[in-house]
Parts: sequence; C-alpha cells; structure tokens
Amino acid sequence: MPATPEKPAAGAAVAARRKAGRHRGEGQWAVGHHTPLNGNEQFKKDDDGLNVRTRIETIYSKRGFDSIDPNDLRGRMRWWGLYTQRKPGIDGGKTAILEPEELDDEYFMLRVRIDGGRLTTEQLRVIGEISQEFARGTADLTDRQNVQYHWIRIEDVPEIWRRLEAVGLSTTEACGDTPRVILGSPVAGIAVDEIIDGSWAIDEIQRRFIGNPDFSNLPRKFKSAVSGSPQLDVAHEINDVSFVGVVHPEYGPGFDLWVGGGLSTNPKLGVRLGTWVPLEDVPDVYGGVIGIFRDYGYRRLRNRARLKFLVADWGPEKFRQVLEDEYLQRKLADGPAPEQPSGVWRDHLGVHRQKDGRFYVGFAPRVGRVDGSTLTKIAELADAHGSGRLRTTAEQKMIVLDVAEEQVDSLVSGLEALDLKVTPSPFRRGTMACTGIEFCKLAIVETKARGAALIDELERRIPEFDEPITININGCPNACARIQVADIGLKGQLVMDADGNQVEGFQVHLGGALGLEAGFGRKVRGLKVTSAELPDYVERVLTRFQEQREDGERFAT
Ligand code: SF4
Repeated sequence: MPATPEKPAAGAAVAARRKAGRHRGEGQWAVGHHTPLNGNEQFKKDDDGLNVRTRIETIYSKRGFDSIDPNDLRGRMRWWGLYTQRKPGIDGGKTAILEPEELDDEYFMLRVRIDGGRLTTEQLRVIGEISQEFARGTADLTDRQNVQYHWIRIEDVPEIWRRLEAVGLSTTEACGDTPRVILGSPVAGIAVDEIIDGSWAIDEIQRRFIGNPDFSNLPRKFKSAVSGSPQLDVAHEINDVSFVGVVHPEYGPGFDLWVGGGLSTNPKLGVRLGTWVPLEDVPDVYGGVIGIFRDYGYRRLRNRARLKFLVADWGPEKFRQVLEDEYLQRKLADGPAPEQPSGVWRDHLGVHRQKDGRFYVGFAPRVGRVDGSTLTKIAELADAHGSGRLRTTAEQKMIVLDVAEEQVDSLVSGLEALDLKVTPSPFRRGTMACTGIEFCKLAIVETKARGAALIDELERRIPEFDEPITININGCPNACARIQVADIGLKGQLVMDADGNQVEGFQVHLGGALGLEAGFGRKVRGLKVTSAELPDYVERVLTRFQEQREDGERFAT
C-alpha cells in the first residue's frame, strides 16, 4: 500500500524519524552540539588524550598497571599509540562475550608512527633495539607504514619514548581519535617516474597538526595520504583525505584532492573534489579538511563518525564549497584526475634505478612479520651497502634506498639470506594479514601465522602461478588488512566444520580492487571456509582462474 501524507507506511515512518533524528543531533560541534552523546565523547571532553603522557611518565610507569585510570587505559592511552593487548589463551568465541577488562592483558601494543614511511638506518636500528629489549623481539610492519610492538610494559614506556624521540621518531597520536600517521609514497624524491615529491607537505602537516590540541579531539580517527607517484602507491581511495600527484595542463605538477574514503563499517571509496592543489597549499587544505571533520563530523554514534559519512551526506560539491568558503577563504583551481598506473603492483618491490642513477631495492617479509633482530640486521646491511635511508610501504614491505649499482647484487643476497625476498612469489608479494587473535582484543581468528602458512602452501602447490594477486586476511569484521579491496578478501569469523563444530574460519569476498577501477569485493553468499580448508580453497580458486582466464584478464575482472 502506498504511503499517504496522513499515515506513512511503517518503513517510511522509520526512515523519516531517523532522518529527523540525524538532523536533531549528530553531535556536530559546528551546529552547537557540545554535550557529549556517548562515553568516548565524554572522556575526550573531560581531558585531552594528549595529557595522559604526563600521567604515564609520573604515575603509571612508576606505580604499575593497576594504577591506571580505566578511562586512560581503554581511551586516552591511544593518543600515545598504546592499546592493551589480548590476554593469551582466550578463544575467538569469547571476544564478543567478555567484558573489556576480562580481555585486557597487562601488556600493551605500542605503535610507532613513521610519517611518509621514511626511516634512517639509525632510526631503524633504534626500533630494532627497543624491540629486543622491551618487546620480546616483536616488531610488525603495518599496512599504514608504521611499526607495531607487543608485550610492552607500562614501566618501560618513558624510556622507549626517550629513545625513539632521540632519533626523531614518536608514537604521538599513532592511535585514537586523532590525525594518524600520514602515508607517503615510499619512493618520494627518488623515483624516476615521480610526478611531484610530497615530502615537504608531510613534514609541514606533521609540524602543524600532529600533537596539536586544536586537532586532538576528532570524532574518530583521521587517515591521510600524500603521494606524487603515478603508481598510486598509498591506497588513496580509502583514506579520509588524500593528495594524489597529477599534472595540471596549465599549472603543472600538483595534487588531486580526495576525501571520505574508509573501510570497516559501511566501506566507502574516497571521492574527488575535482580540485588541483599546489604543493605549498597542501598543509592548508589538509587543515581545512581536518577542520571540517572536527567541527561538522558526527559524534553521536562511533560507527557513523568517520568523515566518509559526512561526505556521503553532503556530496563532493557541498564539501568543496564549505572547504573553500569557510576554511580556506579562497577558491581552489579545478584539476584533472590521476591516470591509470602502468604497473599492476603498487609496492615498489625489486631493484629499480633512482633519479640520481643509484638504485632502490624493495623486499618482502611474510605478511609484514619481522622482528627486532631482523630489523637491526636490515639496518646493518643497508649501512654496509652505502645506504643510510629506508622506507616502509603501505603493503607491509620495505625498501632500501640510495644503493650504488655495484653494491646491488650483494645487498640482494644479504636480504635473501634473511628470508626477505626481493623477487617474491605473487603470494608472498600480495598477501597481507592484520594482527589477529595473537594480540588483538577484537579478533575472532588467528591471521599472521595463517597467512604465512598460506603463502608457503601456495608456493609449493602452484609454483607456476604468475598473476598479480592480493589476498588480505582480517581477524574480525573490521578492515585493518583491507579485505574489501583485495582480489581475495578473508574476513575472520567462527564457522561450522564438516562435523558441525564451531571452528575458526573466514567469510570470503572476491574481486575487490584499488586503483582507477577500485571497487569492493563481492561477499560470496554462504561461502565460508574453515581455517584448515583455506589453502585448498584458495588453490582451487586460483587454479580455476588460471585455466579459464582470457588473454590479459585480471583476477579482479
Ligand atoms: Fe584486530 Fe580485527 Fe583489526 Fe585484525 S581486523 S587487527 S582482528 S580489529
């Protein structure tokens, strides 16, 4: 029956109520809503997350774990890159049932932000030493170009900060409702095909916005990326704000502005605002976008707070108008979209000549898993081969820069001896895994060891497979390993095995992609595999694809 003005149908009435509710109060500061609408907003209002550092240094590190205020423990400590890690031995079935304090271990994950993925060998050596001394050797490379430690004791945090900061690194706002690490092209300043080097803008954004109390209470996390590489190498489509290198026909090299990307709940790809931003304006425009997010972002529901929801409601035209009129007080030039990259991989692995005639060498551990001892050895190897610089990538890989031609072979042999492959199989190259149940309190299944074993199995079973392929493994319905944009995305959950037992497994998503043909994988209805069946399943999918593909056909198509 059609709805009448007097008596709307139930569905329409609910939708109307929702819409009215949204406009009544999403907690947007810019329209006068300053009363906290949930516990997170309350603790952020009570005290700036940045202030917890003083308490860690003067109280918690001296009196121990039990002295930590719960609002600091599960809230503000994130502003300094600290999360409690999962108590060992709690299975994934209990994740949603237990109270947070029952899942909390007395140890922390600590995230080191590496803006632009840029590291010196001295910095990497310090990261490695901290890992061995304070983190039981752990040090994972993340898909946000960070390094993550585990097993950190609160007592050791001030000393870890002292050592990191002595070499110009920090954990400031590495987590929390803050401007997180700024992704940057791992080959900024050196790549032969570079459109524009965004490094200056990353430094300037860091200087002006990171650790700045004016931007330390955002509705939710704020992810950003700046890359002038035509390889589109920072997953710009899934950041809250991205600056992507383009050449304007009149003004020359600059950046195309994207906003509102993000995975996890209601995944959305970023949208172009159609503007061209010169390098020197990138920090101001970043400031405008983060300002809009702070002031107009939704603060009522955590799962509707990311910038993508505001962008979806406003649309790109209104977003651009508010940015120009209220935040920049000037119009931005119109500009072109990025072009389709020539290669299919975005990770810069292998040996490549730099602009200056030297070489960079990209290499792959398995699923980002390295350790402190290996990182120290990588720093030593780089030094021994005349390089003082390295980069992390947004694919859980690394690159050594500035290697003279005659040193390349020796460096490659040294890396391969550490099981860091310069010419990896497509499986090692294209597989990423999130932290998973080993340390993550939200996890339902194991991911890192599962991913590493899957790589080994696929290399053994289908050694001739030559197609670029991405296999991303998440330990829960969140999206830390970007499952929605992988060729094969695996979302961790409990599934039934053939005997009717509930066991660890995955919901399969197929056919996602990044790039100019970006899109989300299709959730294959009913297609769930147990962890034990995973190698068989992936082998079947890939073998069938290989047998049936047409000339030039990619897996995602
Ligand atoms: Fe944890 Fe889930 Fe993120 Fe994996 S995807 S790290 S399990 S929150």
